[in-house]
Amino acid sequence: MFVGHYSVAFACRTERNKIPLWFLFVAVQFLDYIWATLVLLGIEKLRVIKGFTAGSMLDSYFHPYSHSLITAVIWSVVAAFIYKTVCGRHSRHYNKAAPLIIGLAVFSHWILDLIAHPRDLAIYDNRWKVGFGLWNHRDPEFALEIALLAGGIALYLTRNAMPVVREGAVIAFGIALVIVQIGDTYVPRTPLMDKATVTGVWVFYTLFVLIAFAVEKIGCRRKINAP
Ligand SMILES: [Zn+2]
Repeated sequence: MFVGHYSVAFACRTERNKIPLWFLFVAVQFLDYIWATLVLLGIEKLRVIKGFTAGSMLDSYFHPYSHSLITAVIWSVVAAFIYKTVCGRHSRHYNKAAPLIIGLAVFSHWILDLIAHPRDLAIYDNRWKVGFGLWNHRDPEFALEIALLAGGIALYLTRNAMPVVREGAVIAFGIALVIVQIGDTYVPRTPLMDKATVTGVWVFYTLFVLIAFAVEKIGCRRKINAP
């Protein structure tokens, strides 16, 4: 699962909880940030194999600290706690339900990975591996990613008040994410080494976080300057 994760970020943001979209973009990929970092440090292991599954080249044969069920729950609680501690003190718009939403957003990553991944997600440590393997079916997996993303963006647009210019930017961002997914799923490429692959993960995910931040700033200034 790739851009489908962002559907949860879009869907979680409401006028009521006022969680910044960029923060939710980090939350839904929090487990992959940890994974990419641990692979870079040589602690978790990855092989990049052309044609490993129809929709992905990633053979994550050892990622018990970032992607086991037990650690996914722990990381979700940690993220909720961080949000509560940092934003509870410093944010003007802090909402009591927000830490729970952040925790669920982090955990949603594991559930969506469970649908796409082959049997490489451990329940505990590196044992009892599960995964429904939708990545073995390229078109349905792609369709699911896009359907989730479209649904998430539709919810975001209906549940948040914003100027038309920002609505347009959100839709353009959504289209850009679809193009990225088309590239990832359908454009053949030579597999990179494991560390180069996860560096790419860090760079792309962070780029999306920055765009999410910028998108929510569009049209803000006009509001502040209004009499
Ligand atoms: Zn993942």
